[in-house]
Amino acid sequence: MLNNTLIQKYNVPGPRYTSYPTVPYWDEKNFSTEKWIDTLQKSFKESNSKEGISLYLHLPFCESLCTFCACNKRITKQHNVELVYIETLLKEWQLYLNVLSEKPIIRELHLGGGTPSFFSPKNLIYLLENIFSKAEIHPNKEFSFEGHPNNTTREHLQALYNLGFKRVSFGVQDYDIRVQKAIHRIQPFENVKKVTEIAREIGYESISHDLVFGLPFQDLNKVIHTIKKTEFLQPDRIAFYSYAHVPWIKGVGQRGFKEEDLPSGEIKRELYEKGKELLEKMGYFEIGMDHFSLKSDSLYQSMLNKKIHRNFMGYTSSSTQVMIGLGVSSISDNWYAFAQNVKTIEEYYQKVNDHELPVFRGHILNAEDLFIRRHILNLMCLLETRWENEIIFTNYPEIIERLKEFEADGLIELNENSLIIKEEGRSFIRNICMAFDLRMMKNAPQTKLFSMTV
Ligand code: SF4
Repeated sequence: MLNNTLIQKYNVPGPRYTSYPTVPYWDEKNFSTEKWIDTLQKSFKESNSKEGISLYLHLPFCESLCTFCACNKRITKQHNVELVYIETLLKEWQLYLNVLSEKPIIRELHLGGGTPSFFSPKNLIYLLENIFSKAEIHPNKEFSFEGHPNNTTREHLQALYNLGFKRVSFGVQDYDIRVQKAIHRIQPFENVKKVTEIAREIGYESISHDLVFGLPFQDLNKVIHTIKKTEFLQPDRIAFYSYAHVPWIKGVGQRGFKEEDLPSGEIKRELYEKGKELLEKMGYFEIGMDHFSLKSDSLYQSMLNKKIHRNFMGYTSSSTQVMIGLGVSSISDNWYAFAQNVKTIEEYYQKVNDHELPVFRGHILNAEDLFIRRHILNLMCLLETRWENEIIFTNYPEIIERLKEFEADGLIELNENSLIIKEEGRSFIRNICMAFDLRMMKNAPQTKLFSMTV
């Protein structure tokens, strides 16, 4: 059981470190689309033939608004938006192809949203065939998509499987009806069971369920109920996310319930600890932060082989140096720079139709950023990191000073040239990463932009 004093001490606003520097600390003054293209071209040349690239396609439409959601989405029931959006994505893909020196080799592909299964199977086939016609496909490809259990059909699953998709994740959140009503996402267990079984029958190798703790009205019994139901379906992976309550950023979408309906920090932690205890009893292994997987799943194997990676989509079992994000609000990463697309569909259409990459902000990483990025990535993925003694102890005493406090609290093992997060420190992984976050230390605090760490 976690120590309440430590929870109170460390439960502060903090990043989830899907990137370093985190978005609020990007240095936008030193960024331009030209610099983005320049770093992309160099990075692509270094890595495409060795390992291929990753593609992320953001498909932003949803039929109904879930009030807990922090994604960039557009709510509509008008399906005539599908083809216009697809044509724009394809034009954006062409804009990238125009600046790349050779045919990209697609190794990883992820469809996220929004709700990718909002799009008809026929339109998804059209989109992907057109993307693939301009690229090569890596022999060890890993293609995945996010499916909504209420509208993913056998046709969706079969069409994407035929195109090479072997992984799917379904958003479950919680099976309790009161919680589902509060988050405006009524989704019976039967729907999740049906899509999980069809995906398995078709041949998907990895099925993931996304659960959330810290939702309005959730208590221990509701979390136990949800995990027991999950046990029955045996997904290969489970993401057990902390609900990020940041209504001041995401606006009315998260205002479908009152503040007092949310579990407090300590109760929230108990919900996670109970969920984790049950999942481990069921044979799942905790991976990095908030993720669990069966031993047979590639995520577990990649953790053992130290190949696990973390990016804007969460944990992945492999990685490429270049990840191009297409679609409204998508973030691209070429290891040396990040770039984010404009956040409204209207601006996105306008920029792409004007033959411009729809990037509106980004960050070029300097040598120090790259050094810190590597350590934070190691900690988030492997719960340990190593360094050359003289560099970190001499050059970054402020990091060591912060780490000493975690050591005194019994959360980490700090050696001359390594840091290992102890089991007791697992819940404070975001705080431990914050000790390395020089951009955060050197700039004005942006704490309002982050959810609580514990
Ligand atoms: S949770 Fe998914 S389906 Fe619900 S609004 Fe967000 S993106 Fe759309």
